[in-house]
Amino acid sequence: MLARIETYYLEWQVGSYHIAIYNDAVRSHGKRTRMDMIDPFGRTISYLRVSVTDRCDFRCTYCMAEDMAFLPKKDLLSLEELDRLCTVFVEKGVRKLRLTGGEPLVRKNIMHLVRRIARHLESGALEELTLTTNGSQLSRFAAELADCGVRRINVSLDTLDPEKFRQITRWGNLDKVMDGIDAAQAAGLKVKLNAVALKGFNDAELPEMLRWAHGRGMELTVIETMPMGEIDADRTDQYLPLSLLRAALERQFTLTDISYKTGGPARYVHVAETGGRLGFITPMTHNFCESCNRVRLTCTGTLYMCLGQEDAADLRAPLRASEGNELVAEAIDEAIGRKPKGHDFIIDRRTNRPSVSRHMSVTGG
Ligand code: SAM
Repeated sequence: MLARIETYYLEWQVGSYHIAIYNDAVRSHGKRTRMDMIDPFGRTISYLRVSVTDRCDFRCTYCMAEDMAFLPKKDLLSLEELDRLCTVFVEKGVRKLRLTGGEPLVRKNIMHLVRRIARHLESGALEELTLTTNGSQLSRFAAELADCGVRRINVSLDTLDPEKFRQITRWGNLDKVMDGIDAAQAAGLKVKLNAVALKGFNDAELPEMLRWAHGRGMELTVIETMPMGEIDADRTDQYLPLSLLRAALERQFTLTDISYKTGGPARYVHVAETGGRLGFITPMTHNFCESCNRVRLTCTGTLYMCLGQEDAADLRAPLRASEGNELVAEAIDEAIGRKPKGHDFIIDRRTNRPSVSRHMSVTGG
């Protein structure tokens, strides 16, 4: 009996020609200026998320504990170092780059980094530069982000009720976020809202949020809470499988599955009553790892190849060891070669430890 080889690939570069063979088919060949990053499961890595700081001006209760110990500032990569790493990734085939955090807009001089990375948009090497933010600082930065070539952003918003907003963020001011969303839309940025679905907190409110978001021309994506980092609350109490949420929404809305894809893990439906799109991100009930195209870089230069696994690669040492980028490029290749098949998040009452010890704020989602 023939053994089945699940996945393999071989690739090499001859001058400016790049040849990749994947499961005995020549997948790509021809004139290429850069070498794609392809992991052991044949997935091309073209998306980098960069957490520029672990600090945040909110403490969302499902994300962080109240008294978090943040990194000493001296441990952070400088903006120049972050730019250098981003540039190496772009040279190695990253086409989409998202800045996140912590809260990316609280990092000092963040617009310096945005402007530096934006040169890759101008050259055409990068297709998209985008941002995930809690919106609290957007009114200050929206116009400049648009000026740098950012076209769309994600704003995390779990409730439209000012008191509940203060409660979930521990002290956030909803008005500031609303002003930020207004400023973003006025600057011409496309805004997508992300809401973590939390049982007994915002599930009853999500139909209203959906109408409100679509009424303002914004997409909404709902996300299942993931077991990352110790928090003060019990995640089992908060966890809401999106299959249940969808069933509840279908009592009020006509939802039709659509094939729309953004390259991310969300699956989308069209909402007949609002004419808008609703996304579902279901890391717990439906694992989406087979199409994962991303890796995550932290503000200390640690590269995580999977959101739901502990394995990581240090890029800071090779970055600082030489002025050239060869050592970093080698370390990235080595790390991509270890990208796992997927995560194994579990939330249940028998497993009361987080699946991964770091908080979401380390990698920014
Ligand atoms: N501060 C920015 C923001 O609020 O969008 C970026 C970082 S924040 C960690 C990124 C996203 O992760 C937010 O949408 C947040 O709601 C989500 N998030 C945080 N902890 C999570 C968890 N345990 N499960 C699912 N989503 C989580």
